Amino acid sequence: MSAILAPAPAPSAPPSAPRRRTRVLALPEARWALAATAAFLLGLALDLAGLPPAVYGGLYAVAYVCGGWEPALEGLRALREKTLDVDLLMIVAALGAAAIGQVLDGALLIVIFATSGALEALATARTADSVRGLLDLAPATATRLTAHGEESVPAAELAVGDVLLVRPGERIGADGTVLDGTSEADQASITGEPLPVVKRPGDEVFAGTLNGTGALRVRVDRDPADSVIARIVTLVEEASRTKAPTQLFIERIEQRYAVGVVAATLAVFAVPLAFGAGLTDALLRAMTFMIVASPCAVVLATMPPLLSAIANAGRHGVLVKSAVAMERLGEVDSAALDKTGTLTEGAPEVTAVTPLPATGLDADALLVLAAAAEHPSEHPLARAIVAAARARGLRLAPAEDFTAIPGRGVEALVGGHRVSVGRGEGEGGTVVRVRRDGEAVGTLTLTDRLRADAPQATAALTALTGAAPVLLTGDSAHAAARVAEATGITDVRAGLLPEDKVTAVRQEQQAGRRVLFVGDGVNDAPALAAAHAGVALGHAGSDLALETADAVVVRDELTAVPALVRLSRRARRLVTQNLVLAGVFITGLVLWDLLGHLPLPLGVAGHEGSTVLVGLNGLRLLRESAWRTGEVQPTRR
Ligand code: ADP
Ligand code: MG
Repeated sequence: MSAILAPAPAPSAPPSAPRRRTRVLALPEARWALAATAAFLLGLALDLAGLPPAVYGGLYAVAYVCGGWEPALEGLRALREKTLDVDLLMIVAALGAAAIGQVLDGALLIVIFATSGALEALATARTADSVRGLLDLAPATATRLTAHGEESVPAAELAVGDVLLVRPGERIGADGTVLDGTSEADQASITGEPLPVVKRPGDEVFAGTLNGTGALRVRVDRDPADSVIARIVTLVEEASRTKAPTQLFIERIEQRYAVGVVAATLAVFAVPLAFGAGLTDALLRAMTFMIVASPCAVVLATMPPLLSAIANAGRHGVLVKSAVAMERLGEVDSAALDKTGTLTEGAPEVTAVTPLPATGLDADALLVLAAAAEHPSEHPLARAIVAAARARGLRLAPAEDFTAIPGRGVEALVGGHRVSVGRGEGEGGTVVRVRRDGEAVGTLTLTDRLRADAPQATAALTALTGAAPVLLTGDSAHAAARVAEATGITDVRAGLLPEDKVTAVRQEQQAGRRVLFVGDGVNDAPALAAAHAGVALGHAGSDLALETADAVVVRDELTAVPALVRLSRRARRLVTQNLVLAGVFITGLVLWDLLGHLPLPLGVAGHEGSTVLVGLNGLRLLRESAWRTGEVQPTRR
């Protein structure tokens, strides 16, 4: 054993997370924009130096081609599918400007346009980077221990039940449980927690997290494809492919708007001409109009803030499943919380085993009966009962014909007897009643610790929604009251079945509120789906809850929920800010052009400037600050 756990001389994986960020010049858009800018500046210099037009004109032409060929092709392709691309309007405007002798102005438009396109591509790439950065964390190989010794195998080929050797400083290859050894793990890549967490036998470890100074023997518990890190990556990738309702709305009107711009441009050209204006003047004004009226900034207003917020949350151990979900989370104005596994740690312990005297069973016999029936269940109470039986060295008989009734309990055939374990009334914690062939044979009492940050999280949710959250639990009124008191909750509904939780949520919503439901269990899934926004808690949460929720908190902290609501609200504020900014610029520049005289270069600068500003504004949420401010202080038991 000690030989296995001796630190390896050289860790086989790099000790720090590989952070790959797309370089600006790796993007073709950026290279073309740079070429266009260089040609333009050189042309301008020669123009000012008084060289013949053929020389600088040629350079301007190069700027047109470098900056414009790609969007022009894109636009033409779109046109063949009978859609009008706003980018095409820009190209037409630039060519129009050139046609009336404003070659310099047209080139300037192309150059700024290409630059803003490159910035946009950079923004998208950086968002994708933060997802790919996560993938890079999972090590390519792992050291598997077999009867013959150690072997190095691709991490993707690990199977449940394999035993791994994780050396000091190595990245852990799979989700699993520590069998031997003590170390600390840096789990920041998954949970965002900046402090290393101590790992001892029995503790959970995650693929992609960094082992500290000790060596560990780890049993693989999850298939590599289902590891938490793999699920994070899939979810964030899927999320970036969805579109927020605001964005869908904008895209629907964008088409008609673009056609409107073209029609209005023709009018702006034709009307002054009819009243005797000069051809060049009328053309120039129309070109300027077409540029400043184009909705480039509006199109960029929505997705960057929402996607940046999703990427930000993902890096901090909170998976938001779509842009829609990100938008909805910020809309909630009331909260409902589940108790077991949500306000409490979900790791209860059996504190009393009480057989009924008349049955002749002793405590061990009662416990082993209950544990055998509970063995197949994923419920936290079930795990606690099985763990208690194991701790006493009891051997469990196999259970057959197992059924779980969410929110009530379980039933199974154990040694020829029909055994059920389920809801009971009693004091001192959560009480479950054990029946054998229909006859009550005793009770087990379980107590679960309140999450350390439950009072803080409840207070934060109260501050955010203006009212204390409602507690919805399947447990008895007695157990619920203790938790409610400790967290400052006053509205408690106990003894609820899964469908009762849904009814409670629906009632709130019918009263005109938008409910945020936070839960973890199978019995919470219907309520998660019914709520305006649903957040599932914990990597320990049941798969069904994770599937149904809009967001999943992987870092094991309840305060991440109010932090997420705050982040979503900030994203929504940025969207609004962007839309207002875009609207003000478009309206202002259009009016200036129609009523006064807006010089073409100024129109170009104003239009493209506002587009770039909106794009960059949205990316502000990529930075980490959202989780540092507010009440979320990473704490560890
Ligand atoms: P909560 O809503 O607080 O998360 P659940 O709805 O999961 O709680 O459970 C409600 C009650 O149903 C529990 O307090 C327990 O009495 C009973 N129960 C549910 N599942 C089980 C189980 N596997 N074994 C025993 N009792 C259970
Ligand atoms: Mg629960």
